[in-house]
Amino acid sequence: MSPSGPSGIVFNIQRHSIHDGPGIRTILFLKGCPLSCLWCSNPESQLFTRELSFNPAKCIGCRACAGVCPTGAIRGGDDSGGGGSGSGDSDSNAPLRFERGLCVSCGACAGICYAGARSMEGREMSAEEAVEEVCRDEPFFRRSGGGLTLGGGEPLAQPEFAAAVLRGFKARGFSTAIETAGHVPWENFLQVIPHADYFLFDIKHTDPDKHKRFTGEDTRLIQENLEKLVRAHSHIIARTPVIPGFNDSGAELSAIADRAAALGLKEIDFLPYHGYGSGKYDLLGRPYPMKTLGMELPGTAQISARLEELKTTIEARGLKVQIGG
Ligand code: SF4
Ligand code: SF4
Repeated sequence: MSPSGPSGIVFNIQRHSIHDGPGIRTILFLKGCPLSCLWCSNPESQLFTRELSFNPAKCIGCRACAGVCPTGAIRGGDDSGGGGSGSGDSDSNAPLRFERGLCVSCGACAGICYAGARSMEGREMSAEEAVEEVCRDEPFFRRSGGGLTLGGGEPLAQPEFAAAVLRGFKARGFSTAIETAGHVPWENFLQVIPHADYFLFDIKHTDPDKHKRFTGEDTRLIQENLEKLVRAHSHIIARTPVIPGFNDSGAELSAIADRAAALGLKEIDFLPYHGYGSGKYDLLGRPYPMKTLGMELPGTAQISARLEELKTTIEARGLKVQIGG
């Protein structure tokens, strides 16, 4: 049977997660996000299109990529390589140069780079293919009461695909969850609500201006959507990435907890900052924005310890608190 239904762009499938909803879960990460959070640990999730990742440390200098690049983005040290010549040879033994500005992310070089130095982030999948791929973990779902969680990027930025995957998976009898930062039209929520058992909804900050400075957007649409979702769905878990210099003060975290409690939410997950994704920015040719803050970044253990100190006061609001994930 040929794949049918809406298609979407996915950048990762992570199996055996125990933090993103009940039981053992498989997370399907959808590519593309309307926010641009300075701390984003998945920079490959941000663009809605496929893009080239290049790791010079893996390059064995075979020069095959220069011969297939149609734009001359990969050139020999003597500027003779590339340009779609097809030869892959260069008169020079000088190292290849990569000009990312000329790259159109066609993927030709990634297809022939046997060393794995060049790879493409993102692949198009039909909803049917995505469901089949996730269902390979069916035995784990059966044993644990787990299921599928859609993550991102922002999965609700691809609402037709997200809804079709959730619907197809739910029809198999397993639980469905969706992680969202909430900055999408409300109509996108309406498409997935009937098919999602759980929403994991980010509350990053209560101050619209600070939210905009660190994520690129203010809180207005997010807040409106959360208020509507509370009226439309009964299983919503608040999630807060705890980021140094952004929302890690006691006052800011308390304000976030107050907002969650005022909306009647019963659970909040705090996700301490980590810098694990910083190396991925290099591979994509982008600077790591957290570095631009020019501050000493505390370790994850330090932030977790701080959260443990605040846990009791936050629980006093009637919230079940989880730290980490
Ligand atoms: S094909 Fe891969 S290993 Fe060969 S030169 Fe290009 S990047 Fe390096
Ligand atoms: S992905 Fe970029 S660098 Fe690679 S062949 Fe295509 S244009 Fe050239």
